[in-house]
Amino acid sequence: MKIFNTLSKQKEDFRPMIDNQVRMYSCGPTVYMYAHIGNLRTYIFMDILRRVLKYNGFTVKHVINITDVGHLLSDSDEGEDKMVKSAREQKKSPWEIAEYFTGVFFEDIEALNIEKLEIICKATGHIDEMLEFVEGLVEKGFGYEISDGIYYDVSKFKGYGKLSGISLEDQLAGARVEVNDEKRHPADFALWKKAPKEHIMRWDSRWGPGYPGWHIECSAMSRKYLGDRFDIHTGGVDHIPIHHENEIAQSEGLLGVQAVNFWVHGEFLLVDGGKMSKSLGNTYTIKDLKEKGFEPLAYRFFCFNAHYRSKLNFTWDGLRGAQVSLDKLREGVLAHLEGSHIIDEQEINQLKQEFLDSINDDLNIPKAMAVVWGIVKDNRKSKQFRDLLCDFDRVLGLKLDEVADKQDDEFEPEIFDLVKERQKAREQRNWKLADEIRDKLKDMGLVIEDTPQGPKIRKGK
Ligand code: AMP
Ligand code: ZN
Repeated sequence: MKIFNTLSKQKEDFRPMIDNQVRMYSCGPTVYMYAHIGNLRTYIFMDILRRVLKYNGFTVKHVINITDVGHLLSDSDEGEDKMVKSAREQKKSPWEIAEYFTGVFFEDIEALNIEKLEIICKATGHIDEMLEFVEGLVEKGFGYEISDGIYYDVSKFKGYGKLSGISLEDQLAGARVEVNDEKRHPADFALWKKAPKEHIMRWDSRWGPGYPGWHIECSAMSRKYLGDRFDIHTGGVDHIPIHHENEIAQSEGLLGVQAVNFWVHGEFLLVDGGKMSKSLGNTYTIKDLKEKGFEPLAYRFFCFNAHYRSKLNFTWDGLRGAQVSLDKLREGVLAHLEGSHIIDEQEINQLKQEFLDSINDDLNIPKAMAVVWGIVKDNRKSKQFRDLLCDFDRVLGLKLDEVADKQDDEFEPEIFDLVKERQKAREQRNWKLADEIRDKLKDMGLVIEDTPQGPKIRKGK
């Protein structure tokens, strides 16, 4: 299997360091507001990667962090802590904000059928590990104290810039007027911040009360759960030049070895051809998608339109197209389920190989989907094709195995009455009643899907 490594800037053959166990770390959400569909594209890519690894027979130990402290408004240590600002605006405590948005995050990723990760760790639960890391860096001469905190001295780390290809000299030339003139180099970053009196999130340290910098949490927690060296680290491309460069400087500075073998980054989602921004009102969430009648899985399917290293442009028309295609795919699975053709095993194996070659070529899902559509459109309806599509779905994660051989017109009349009642509730924007009916149907082992053609009912969880 080949994966593109941002570190070497080329596709490399992937092998785990130890036997067939892959140790992987993914930068998780900063839980100060709802995740938008751009964030979620990055987690769908992460999920596809772990599913492809498992499809290849590897076992996966996968860690994701929850940033509930220390992520300042700018990635380069300027401005307020995002959690604290959000808490003030919403008149809640930062802990309440973190708990609420962490819950929503897990609901979102479950709705997108992102597999449950082996380890989920919160930054606030690992302050001791972070302090130990910072103390180690200071003892080794990589950290220094100034009036507002402990900073990392980037000029001490020889490899600084190796991930992004931006040298320290280039950074110096492009640096803005430095707000913190005690720093030795503009790229030096905070490992630990001293907390001003009014700062709510604070912990004791040998430098007095304070809170951790954002970058240190990933170095400390990945080391705790995966060891000094591990196989894969993922994130979005925006993390390459600062966050991940800083993680490398911290981990390799302290440990003296290359900590991560493969750095893998997902490209951005654009909306209507541009950046998502609050002022444009286009930072859509899963809730927005659902309110417009789309299934979260249709968004997952939409993400298959582009390779993970290409930008993807979101439009509502595009999502509508994805929903229609997903429905067609389900119909295709159903048609094969009812088929009786016998297909030569050799042909099945060849299709399986084509699919495997595509996903193993740096997760080429658009190419793998061409194999899928070839099977869906095959006129020889066969249960073997249905089983093959369900096997591929271990990677795609579209719940194709839940497409059962029961069609709309086979349901009892009272089921349709419930569907109609729910439709009416939705028209009246009575979301509570609509959700209650959905839950009732769920208890009966039925799933209702809102498609642009109206609601559809099928057996499933
Ligand atoms: P944050 O919660 O801000 O730390 O971001 C969570 C993840 O979403 C990170 O891995 C980011 O790289 C990623 N991300 C942010 N914006 C986008 C976007 N427009 N498209 C894809 N990924 C994004
Ligand atoms: Zn991180």
